[in-house]
Amino acid sequence: MKFHVATWGCQMNDHDSEKLSGLLAGMGMEPVPHWSSADLVLLNTCSIREKAVHKVYSELGRLREEKKRRPFLIGVTGCLAQQEKEALFKRAPQVDLVLGTMALRQLPDLVREALEGGRRLIDTGAHPDNHLFPPEATRRGETAKALVSIIEGCNHACTFCVVPATRGPERSRPWKDVVEEVRGLVAAGFREVELLGQNVNSYAGGCDFADLVERIGELQGLEWIRFTTSHPMNFTPRLARLIVGHPKVAPFLHLPVQSGSDAVLRRMRREYTVDQYLERVSWLGEEREGVSLSTDFIVGFPGETDQDFQATLDLLEKVRFDASFSFIYSPRPGTPALRLKDDLSQAEKGARLRRLQQRQADLTEESNRRLVGRTVPVRIESPAATEAGHWMGRTADWKNVHLQAGPGRSLPFGELVQARITGAGPHHLRGEVA
Ligand code: SF4
Repeated sequence: MKFHVATWGCQMNDHDSEKLSGLLAGMGMEPVPHWSSADLVLLNTCSIREKAVHKVYSELGRLREEKKRRPFLIGVTGCLAQQEKEALFKRAPQVDLVLGTMALRQLPDLVREALEGGRRLIDTGAHPDNHLFPPEATRRGETAKALVSIIEGCNHACTFCVVPATRGPERSRPWKDVVEEVRGLVAAGFREVELLGQNVNSYAGGCDFADLVERIGELQGLEWIRFTTSHPMNFTPRLARLIVGHPKVAPFLHLPVQSGSDAVLRRMRREYTVDQYLERVSWLGEEREGVSLSTDFIVGFPGETDQDFQATLDLLEKVRFDASFSFIYSPRPGTPALRLKDDLSQAEKGARLRRLQQRQADLTEESNRRLVGRTVPVRIESPAATEAGHWMGRTADWKNVHLQAGPGRSLPFGELVQARITGAGPHHLRGEVA
């Protein structure tokens, strides 16, 4: 039996796919890189924005056509599965099983039942041990860094967000389990880990998040520790000090702000003001020397005025983010923001988004240029998709570097090399191995 797992969305989903693949491999099934030869196709979905949902339904349409030609099983898991539950079968009758985000470990039972002829199988229950997934059952991809989940769910209630509904309340793994998992990853050859959670800063698995990072930092052989995502209200001066000064904590922070207007932040129920956000940024040091900061913006949130949007642009200038991820507000089912009046045209929202992204591209290029002429450590991640003979790597502060390997040469996957940075654009740096 062969299986294929397709993934949309965030790194939590990427890691869930590694867990699901591990469970299927544990049943004796073999992974294949495309669904065309799979006996089971699992779509691990995202529902954070409407566009992500459309992509899943388009894929389900293609799979429906394939199913007319040959028999195979289709499963849907992830946030869309959790959100839609039985309704998914109505909209996509070709689906055989639906698995919620808090029921991953139930996958083998559902697959067995489906193979015995069971139809429309579903488990979207909140299994209390879901976050205690055994690390040895995970089937990791060919990645330079290992993803490690430390906390699942979210206790915040941002009015635009489906995550509290699709991922449930916060559940932290015990700190000893996390440290043991990372120890095992280092023994298996990983030199970098990324600690994952919807809000890692509210970790509470027997110690706080800063304690956990310090305990992981004591492991011999580990080179870089990253983490994502952080809610500004749970970010602390102690964590900022770790980012700035701990030799193994990557000097990079993703701290989503969403808007530069207090009025919009209030309507989003983000629980902080712009000044409070700026205070947290200041904890990284006046000049943020060597530390990269990225953020998320939602443009065109209901009721966003010209002045509100200008306040977002002003914040961009003030903080000069090294990178940002920005999107037009996407109304999500069941979220409180649906009740807010939204009378701004899509055209105006699109124009605002373009303005923000153009300015960010300049700032990112400016930030990248600061590295030109310097020699920095870069971890080799993969061959560069767009340039033959080049490899893609990441600096400690998460900048993407294209390195020339030379004809017929490859660079050591997963290892750190010293790279001289020779050029910079808004999307990546260019360099050569020093
Ligand atoms: S902090 Fe807000 S945006 Fe982030 S997952 Fe929780 S509810 Fe969603």
